[in-house]
Amino acid sequence: MIYETELRTLAQFQAEAPILSVYLDVDPTRHTTEEYLLSLRNMLKQAEKEASPEDIHAVQRYFEHEYDWSGRGVAVFSCRAADFWRAYVLPIPVASGVTVARRPYVSPLAALLDTYERYGVAVVNREGARILLFHLGEPIYEESFDGEEVRKLKRGRGSSGGAERRGGAPSGSRHMEEVAMRNLRQAARTVEQFWRQHTPRRLILAGAEPTVSQFRDLLPKALQEAIVGTISVDSGESVRDLRERSLQVLRRVEEEREAALVEEVVTAAAKGRGGTLGLDETLSAAHEGRIRTLVILRNFHAPGYRCTSCGYLAAQNPGTCPFCAGAFAEIPDAAEAAVTRVIEDGGEIEVVDHHPLLNPVGIGALLRY
Ligand SMILES: [Zn+2]
Repeated sequence: MIYETELRTLAQFQAEAPILSVYLDVDPTRHTTEEYLLSLRNMLKQAEKEASPEDIHAVQRYFEHEYDWSGRGVAVFSCRAADFWRAYVLPIPVASGVTVARRPYVSPLAALLDTYERYGVAVVNREGARILLFHLGEPIYEESFDGEEVRKLKRGRGSSGGAERRGGAPSGSRHMEEVAMRNLRQAARTVEQFWRQHTPRRLILAGAEPTVSQFRDLLPKALQEAIVGTISVDSGESVRDLRERSLQVLRRVEEEREAALVEEVVTAAAKGRGGTLGLDETLSAAHEGRIRTLVILRNFHAPGYRCTSCGYLAAQNPGTCPFCAGAFAEIPDAAEAAVTRVIEDGGEIEVVDHHPLLNPVGIGALLRY
């Protein structure tokens, strides 16, 4: 399990030698161990040119002999030359990929923590609430509030009030509503207390309507704003179900964050200030060390040129280098080279699966200045 503090330490590590960063999707519901090992071997093969053989072996050894195939994703960072090794088993799937740079490639981990770190799920009904704290989709704490019993109406809510009046319980239904509201108010206080004590970043409500909406209205404004979605459940949902359904809610949160980032890039690039769109401009910005966040489509690759003496990247062959008059060599993937450059400059990488505004160009960036 990884926490924010660990991520910060990892992000600060730098080495003179290349660091091999490997992410492997190991979701057992989708492929077999053998298939994942095969995809790992293919990825490592692609990294052979840049990574050291010791690191490639270390990663292979880890997956073949040490790792127990638990979790849904794994992140491994290796730099034998600097005696550096970290492996994290993640309860949430990650996209597979290999990166070689003089810093560990931590952006996917950072995005994972940003979305899935410490969130609360409050399951509410008319008689009480159950609150669970998750970290990266793993339940780490639970508490509950049991309120006063709300007896069921014998005739159901649809029956006319007349029958009840004849039955001699004129305010039975209203009384039950009062009990339920009292329970909900107490449940809201319990959730508020839980919030202060455990400081999750996001809250998901679970239950049936209209109870969930009533409960939401009883929460303080700050807590209402932390709600990122609701899950419709009747009762007695297992922790496993709650986990899966809350992960779906958070996946949507992540997609929305990515989409907002792409829109920010496009807007900044259109204004000609603070953003670039397309390979050419983005490579120039990368060379100047100006990229704060590189935004790239998952499968975007583009051949390009690299100055053999200063490393300047270009989409088209400029003949001689405008910076050092050096010669250019063709490289198979200028986009990947830009990723490496941005990682080494301490920038962030955001890999986006698809977005209508990014699809035609494949790559863009938000700039530091
Ligand atoms: Zn040059």
